[in-house]
Amino acid sequence: MLTLVKGEEVIKESKSLEEFEGLLNELFNKYSIKPEENAVFVSITCPDDQSSSVLSYIITKNKYEKDRSKHFLVYNRSVFGGVFVPGYKTFESLIPAAHHIPKSGKNLVVLNFTHIGYEEETGEWGKFIRYGHDHASPSCGAIVTLYSLIKEGKEMVNDEDLRELGIFLRNIIMEENIKEMPRNEHVLHLTLNAFERQSSWLLEQLQHLSKKEKINILYIGGVEIDMDKKKEFNDKILVKNITYIEAGKKIEKIL
Ligand SMILES: [Zn+2]
Repeated sequence: MLTLVKGEEVIKESKSLEEFEGLLNELFNKYSIKPEENAVFVSITCPDDQSSSVLSYIITKNKYEKDRSKHFLVYNRSVFGGVFVPGYKTFESLIPAAHHIPKSGKNLVVLNFTHIGYEEETGEWGKFIRYGHDHASPSCGAIVTLYSLIKEGKEMVNDEDLRELGIFLRNIIMEENIKEMPRNEHVLHLTLNAFERQSSWLLEQLQHLSKKEKINILYIGGVEIDMDKKKEFNDKILVKNITYIEAGKKIEKIL
């Protein structure tokens, strides 16, 4: 069980995209990871195109930086909510990424971010104003919609991925006794719990992948906070877990 944290503390603890890039560079130096040369990025994020700024930022900053003839390698594994649902999603879907690593290298950098909106003016969680919109809309839309269906005792949706995510979220809501909170902080708590549970499952899966494919994996996971898109781009990154797996054996928990 996670202890309840206040929304303001989460905002304070979060990194700007520039700070996040600094962290990435430190880690790349430490483990001799050179994007485009000896590593492939795996992005495990929500299909929501306005909620994957971590990935967009990294691509923008790194793409073609050194050699325009090379393709920037990103293996995109879109999962609703950025949640790799335990018992349902497995490492097998990530094997192609391991096979895309350039011949000279053996590194995967796995970026695993679930996401949540934050409306600055009202301090409310679970929504933000998207590009070209005047009003806030749900974020993560999948998590917020499933939460309402679960609370209203309605039938779960038919789509298989969403249904599995719904079953996973329902268990968390029951076990953690998640109830409505001011400023929709319950959406934040549900998101943080969902991230933690899927993260430990995903790390187990990555260990299998690392062992099977004889590769090193740098895992960075957390929650991307989508801020209103009225002003400049200022999304935030709450980094929750950094783990390095060396060829399926040595595991170093960095955060
Ligand atoms: Zn989403």
